[in-house]
Amino acid sequence: MKQIHLSINGAGCETACIHCWANGGRYKNMSFDDIQFVVKSFNNFSESNGYNLGFNVMHEPLAHPDAVRIVQLRNEQNSDYAAFQIPTSGIPIAIREDYKELLDGLVKNKVENLHFVLHGIGDTHNKAVNSKNAFENFKIAIERTKAAGLICSVAIFLNKLNVSQFSEMKKLLSGYEINPDIPMIARYISGKKLQQYDEIRVEYSDLLPVLDELKENEIIDVGVGKRDLYHNLENYTEAAFYGKAVEGEKITTAYDIPERGDINLICDKDFNIYDGSANVFGKCYGNLKENNVAVFEKLNDDIVNDRMENVFSPTLFYPNETLPPLKELAEKYGDKNGQKIYAGGIHYKWLDNAFLKD
Ligand code: SF4
Repeated sequence: MKQIHLSINGAGCETACIHCWANGGRYKNMSFDDIQFVVKSFNNFSESNGYNLGFNVMHEPLAHPDAVRIVQLRNEQNSDYAAFQIPTSGIPIAIREDYKELLDGLVKNKVENLHFVLHGIGDTHNKAVNSKNAFENFKIAIERTKAAGLICSVAIFLNKLNVSQFSEMKKLLSGYEINPDIPMIARYISGKKLQQYDEIRVEYSDLLPVLDELKENEIIDVGVGKRDLYHNLENYTEAAFYGKAVEGEKITTAYDIPERGDINLICDKDFNIYDGSANVFGKCYGNLKENNVAVFEKLNDDIVNDRMENVFSPTLFYPNETLPPLKELAEKYGDKNGQKIYAGGIHYKWLDNAFLKD
């Protein structure tokens, strides 16, 4: 049975993060009735055509006034999509007057874990997420979440501005008895915003003072999901990827391998339906509120005839361009001396250099 993953852009963030990978930010929430309408429409479509549907509500579900009902709706849908873990900036938990009801509602609906991201200490974190009191709110949210009996997990995303605060961040988290997830370095994701984020991307030499600490927690898996970033850091500079590409070698990292070969769809804030996911908007199938019959006819036609794009395909980003081979791409658009570190997606940077237009 084909699996459809539907992202509903129905809950605006409390932040506008400089690194946003998902076209998130502040926007007006969809009403809960509208979210239900979208889910019901897609359920009918999936049931009639023998597809399996799972959905999630982007971007900051806990900022939605009906966050608990959204969790209930997801739990009713499909056990694979049950909301055991919810990502959050923490701000909704710190600023909502009904935070107790929110957290209790999450616990009652089988949520076990809230997942936070820390981008530095104090103003470094505030600036990264573009929210004045974000760091203080992060701390309040951790305390409240723990007091409600939920697990807090925290990822640290390293960049040029926060790498010197790495030990302080770890100390802060250990004060809450939290072990940070393996500190992350973003892969390159195509787009203007991510191109700007590249300006503060961490470089090889920035990581040397903390490299031993970073290696400590790194899990090395010898399978497809091999993540040996910190143990072999020199292999992850732009220069290293450039060298391989011009020699005709593959430069795919574990992070570049698509996780799913299923059908990925977006219902945007205005109810337009797209092929794609997060920041990758492919073909538009029309507007669900204006003409859902036409939307589902076109969609089914493409699914049946196997015309759905893979979300990670470069052709989805550059639909009207002829893409050069990797070697040529590297030679023309890569930096052979580049010392920035990429956990993946370097070819998207070169493609952006070649094709990204205002
Ligand atoms: S990174 Fe996440 S929290 Fe930040 S703006 Fe994007 S979707 Fe929202």
